Amino acid sequence: MLVVMKKGATQREIEHVVERVQELGLTAIPLPGEERTAIGTFGVAAQDHADSVEALPGVERVVLVSRPFKLSSREVQPHDTAVRVGGVRVGGGQDVAVMAGPCSVESPEQTFATARAVRDAGAVILRGGAYKPSTSPYHFRGLGERGLEILAEAKRQSGLPIVTEVLAPGDVERVATVADCLQIGARNMQNFALLDAVGETQTPVLLKRGLAATIEELLLAADYILARGNRNVLLCERGIRTFERYTRNTFDINAIPLLKRLTHLPVVADPSHGTGKWYLVAPIALAAVAAGADALLIEVHPSPDHALKDGFQSLTFENFGSLMRAIPAVAAAVGRSLRVPVS
Ligand code: PEP
Ligand code: MN
Repeated sequence: MLVVMKKGATQREIEHVVERVQELGLTAIPLPGEERTAIGTFGVAAQDHADSVEALPGVERVVLVSRPFKLSSREVQPHDTAVRVGGVRVGGGQDVAVMAGPCSVESPEQTFATARAVRDAGAVILRGGAYKPSTSPYHFRGLGERGLEILAEAKRQSGLPIVTEVLAPGDVERVATVADCLQIGARNMQNFALLDAVGETQTPVLLKRGLAATIEELLLAADYILARGNRNVLLCERGIRTFERYTRNTFDINAIPLLKRLTHLPVVADPSHGTGKWYLVAPIALAAVAAGADALLIEVHPSPDHALKDGFQSLTFENFGSLMRAIPAVAAAVGRSLRVPVS
């Protein structure tokens, strides 16, 4: 249920609606807009709930949202959400922001060199994992705390905001001291305790689609974060598991325009994990731009052959540069543009 307040509704009237909605056993989230406030509600609302709320002072109308996901739905908010990652806006426009960097922070030299290279090529956000989810317990699991220190220094040196993964609710506060955007990895998309924990912060969250998650499950996971009051959520298509084995995952290009239709949240495409092959990354990145992605997430490494993780899908500096040079023409063909760094 979405409660749309009248244009001149007072703060007291808004608070009264929130209290009444809570009495009905639902969670109420005020969504201040440019012209008026709406109040999103979380929980199962019935027609008689809607009727009783519609009668309250200051209420213009109540819409029963038909989709299973609510707060992320365009039914609740028709206009695009713009999320600010550090100083960089993602979504809410026709431009494409590029986030790039290594899969994992391996050393200061590797991270600083990559930060410089991706910034010089036009990336506006640096990615890199300090805490890495790993299918095998015998593989590299990240530098942890030391990785965060390296990222903090890379941010100082490059001026780029940081997106980095958080694996556990207890780490959220510490990771958020360095991260401008907290990544929830595919394997944690339905870690509800973690979704609640990042929802309690105001730090932007990059929520990656689970390995076998439907679009609806992704949007319901986003609603967990939004329901806690953090409205800065970015959704990321990173490929799903299918029977095809030539690629690591099958990048679901449908997801990009479909998500843009169903939700107001910005949509990020990750062709690195979506394909698992460095030579497929650029074509799929360009396809995602044409399909409407608000941002790209690209893995880049100084020497992919020597990477501790995901080297086979990482671009060299040179290949990343070529991709960046190819984006403007494809973006322009569909009325879009590459978001350029603010110097
Ligand atoms: C990553 O971004 O390096 C990563 C581990 O991604 P995913 O969770 O999509 O596998
Ligand atoms: Mn990776």
